[in-house]
Amino acid sequence: MTVNLLDLDATGLTEFFAQLGEKPFRAKQLLRWLHHFGEADFSRMTDVAKTLREKLAAVSCVTPPTLISDRLSEDGTRKFLFDVGRGNAVETVFIPEDQRGTLCISTQAGCALDCAFCSTGKQGFNRNLTVAEIIGQLWQVNKTLDFDPKGERIISNVVLMGMGEPLANLDNVVVALRLMLDDNAYGLSRRRVTLSTSGIVPAMDRLREQCPVALAVSLHASNDALRDRLVPINRKYPLEELMAACRRYLTAAPRDFVTFEYVMLDGVNDRDADARELLRLTRDVPCKFNLIPFNPFPKSGFRSSKPERVRRFAEILIAAGIVTTTRKTRGDDIDAACGQLAGQILDRSRRILKSSPILDLTQ
Ligand code: SAH
Ligand code: SF4
Repeated sequence: MTVNLLDLDATGLTEFFAQLGEKPFRAKQLLRWLHHFGEADFSRMTDVAKTLREKLAAVSCVTPPTLISDRLSEDGTRKFLFDVGRGNAVETVFIPEDQRGTLCISTQAGCALDCAFCSTGKQGFNRNLTVAEIIGQLWQVNKTLDFDPKGERIISNVVLMGMGEPLANLDNVVVALRLMLDDNAYGLSRRRVTLSTSGIVPAMDRLREQCPVALAVSLHASNDALRDRLVPINRKYPLEELMAACRRYLTAAPRDFVTFEYVMLDGVNDRDADARELLRLTRDVPCKFNLIPFNPFPKSGFRSSKPERVRRFAEILIAAGIVTTTRKTRGDDIDAACGQLAGQILDRSRRILKSSPILDLTQ
């Protein structure tokens, strides 16, 4: 069977070369070619012996997911759509900022967790992405964006906040994370890679043990009754367990706080009393808050809180000494904002025809 080398991290490549009867240093060489230089063609890997290159070409391949569209929003946000086979597509969003460039990547086609306000959840679950499909998003976009004028990579940060629940695909996500952190691959620091979860408690513990990176937790409610409704996984792992898991995570995390994401839903979770209840809930967890204006999608049944309400809610948290930011909604002209990612190719292409992006770079 042909091995897709993008499925393997340093350990996997070392085993692969051992099976071929090759020395372990080949793994490092290949990592650099594949991920550091973005090279997919064995014949161009000049410091690899010709016989080995031929062997590699016979037994392995370098196959990232196919890029099917690349659209640029008015605010510079750029959305990439990748085909992951059998009518499924996933989205990857690049968000340029002054001091950094963040790539938001997907980990599943669809999502099984069915949060009430999430468009990905409404699609249902299709399947877990493979390592090659997860890291392949970074691989492809890195090649597309290349370097800035100072010779630095344009992508400085990665967030696992696209489609899917990363902790429901932990094994593949961990291998992809190890590649992101590997100096021979992307060399990102743990602090610059953030995983966002809706709170699958046992998997939070496994992530801490296997590959701790910065953690964001999608909280969205200050009590179990409301969170059971908005984030159904709460019925399995209620808030008290979730807060305890956050504290455990922080014992090994690269940052000394958890970021709580909180989508602001008009009349649902945005009262002053909700903010005060949040303060009590998170009292023992060093944290920051990131308020996310709800991004509407058809038939969601929710409205976004008014900007004035979001401001007031933030003030209450800030007055209690919690660093609180409000996420700027970006890329909504190309449906690239949080929770709007929906990947059915058919759906998508219909929408692509309907809407008129500022620039469609695949045309
Ligand atoms: N499954 C993970 C990561 C992907 S979702 C998680 O739930 O954390 C990334 C973030 O977008 C989460 O905080 C999620 O709650 C939020 N989100 C989902 N739908 C949204 C919407 N319609 N508007 C704003 N944020 C949304
Ligand atoms: Fe899944 Fe996250 Fe959407 Fe919930 S918010 S349905 S966990 S992608």
